[in-house]
Amino acid sequence: MWFMQIVFLGLPGAGKGTQAVSITEDFDVPHIATGDMFRAAMAADSSLGQEVREYLVKGLLVPDELTIQVVRDRLQQADTKNGFLLDGFPRTEPQAIALEEMLREIGKPIMHVLYLQVPREDLLQRLTGRVVCSSCGTSYHVTLNPPTHGGICDRCGAELIVRKDDTPEAVAVRLAENFERTEALAKFYEQRGLLRTIDGTQSIGHVYDAISNALQEAQA
Ligand code: ADP
Ligand code: ADP
Ligand code: ZN
Repeated sequence: MWFMQIVFLGLPGAGKGTQAVSITEDFDVPHIATGDMFRAAMAADSSLGQEVREYLVKGLLVPDELTIQVVRDRLQQADTKNGFLLDGFPRTEPQAIALEEMLREIGKPIMHVLYLQVPREDLLQRLTGRVVCSSCGTSYHVTLNPPTHGGICDRCGAELIVRKDDTPEAVAVRLAENFERTEALAKFYEQRGLLRTIDGTQSIGHVYDAISNALQEAQA
């Protein structure tokens, strides 16, 4: 039996979602992205969606208690039996501690934390040029990683849109919210011997190779 419990750590725009698409296909594990789950709840206008909307629009973190509950419920689902890739969770130390506890309960400890490191200066350009698929969520960039056919998703053909929180104002709030917390989480996982730091400024293909190598080395 093959298990793979992976966490992607990185600031907004570091490339977590982009890399998650291929890595989850390689390991056949679900891509669990709290941001995607919150946006889906908002689109469905569920009570969760109504509760989180004000935070997402402004770029603020959703309160820990609510975020932890969403992940706890998601990890109970059957498709996580061989592992999962967490993208955008944990983002705070209380979330990291809660995650350790819930994974201990289900007997699936984190195996690798891949930290996609990109300097803050690069992230503004990445985020303000980002377009995402309205259906499958795949990220593109108008100049750095353009889709093959204009405003259409290469993977599923749906329309590409600009996220409401990719404005310069909301991006600035998100980077401020996450900068110190991400550094603190990197230390937290380094102390546990789980951290693998990846140079996220390389091309998308090279970042993918670096992640694959790190995962394979750790398996060997
Ligand atoms: P990005 O792709 O820019 O890293 P995400 O899609 O991961 O952004 O997250 C979008 C928004 O969802 C965040 O700005 C925040 O409001 C909320 N969010 C996502 N993950 C978390 C989390 N772990 N804790 C609190 N809020 C979160
Ligand atoms: P995150 O999920 O960490 O917020 P994304 O995967 O959505 O980040 O990537 C943010 C933006 O940067 C997107 O527009 C994406 O196309 C672009 N991008 C991702 N990886 C790279 C890379 N290695 N080099 C240049 N641009 C990238
Ligand atoms: Zn798509």
